[in-house]
Amino acid sequence: MKHTITLIPGDGIGPEVAEAARRCLEATGIEFQWEVVDAGATALEKEGNLLPPRLFQSIRKNKVALKGPTTTPVGTGFRSVNVALRKELDLYACLRPCRSYPGIPSRYKDVDIIIVRENSEDLYIGLEFARGTAETKKMLSLASQSTGEKISKDSSISLKLISEAASRRIARFAFEYARTHGRRKVTAVHKANIMKFTDGLFLDTARDVAKAYSDIDFEDRMVDNLCAQVVQRPHQFDILVLPNLYGDIVSDLCAGLVGGLGVAPGANIGDELAIFEPAHGSAPKYTGQNKVNPIAMILSGAMMLRHIDEKAAADRLDKAAAETVADGKSVTYDLRPGRDAATAIGTSEMADAIIARLK
Ligand code: NAD
Repeated sequence: MKHTITLIPGDGIGPEVAEAARRCLEATGIEFQWEVVDAGATALEKEGNLLPPRLFQSIRKNKVALKGPTTTPVGTGFRSVNVALRKELDLYACLRPCRSYPGIPSRYKDVDIIIVRENSEDLYIGLEFARGTAETKKMLSLASQSTGEKISKDSSISLKLISEAASRRIARFAFEYARTHGRRKVTAVHKANIMKFTDGLFLDTARDVAKAYSDIDFEDRMVDNLCAQVVQRPHQFDILVLPNLYGDIVSDLCAGLVGGLGVAPGANIGDELAIFEPAHGSAPKYTGQNKVNPIAMILSGAMMLRHIDEKAAADRLDKAAAETVADGKSVTYDLRPGRDAATAIGTSEMADAIIARLK
């Protein structure tokens, strides 16, 4: 069966890593029809729109997209192209596997943590009020009157919203993922001792959802304690489910534990649609140099293969990528001892080495 997939090359290094991933995916023998659409700075330049309607139409039609990183140009009125894309398509779960690979320099061996980050609310909804405006003054005075707290008049405000509905669906997503992927434990991460109503609601809801999954262990951790524990004893964790902001920070922490953002794949998933993309950004300074590591984008492609029920191909691609990295000869500069560019190969050649192992 041929799969029609929306391919978003992205900006900066995006097109180079996206092309590497596309070639590796095709080398698995699975047939694809790629619908190529632009987003971000490239779309703005070509079509005058950071997120053209064609992009949404294509993703809604095909249900699955593979995306390179995009740049959000400063001063365009967008906080982030990615946040806007996830919001518009209701991609409420950000999935980030953080797994060690032999050959990728990192502090620990055999780390295997899945991060499930709530993607739709919390402090990321963009309800912000600048210091000194009439609305901010009104809100500060309401907050002060209704709580009796003294609030500094020169404050800005960001609203943190956490709902039961969004907490329930992300907790369910984490437990369902655990069940379907043979995982043993879900840890809910929060700061409910301080934010009793928002994080408290997140935690209470996760606890409630856990009752329906007696086959999966459940525990919770405060986010500060979790960070220390992840750094000291990462092997105790399996799946972490977190509200948006903690999820953003902890997923980079865990990526750092297994070798950095350049090797971390990811996905943004909703009930019907999914976008697979690496954790790293568009690294503009490396644009067009055929230099950066394509592995995060290729592993995001392997996640996409699993999502479209091509598990055997996903396993083969994962294995070919892991062997190439472990072998250490045909890798980009960041994986060479001492980050030695002189003995490294390029993005495209690393994809060739992975493809050779798929044959
Ligand atoms: P970045 O991830 O683009 O780059 C930071 C550094 O990480 C780079 O300078 C490079 O040294 C290293 N790096 C990143 N990817 C690498 C790879 N594949 N191989 C080797 N090294 C790699 O982060 P940034 O500089 O903060 O952001 C640049 C742009 O990317 C910004 O416009 C930002 O908004 C955007 N961004 C997009 C996404 C996305 O599309 N999902 C995510 C993060 C950042």
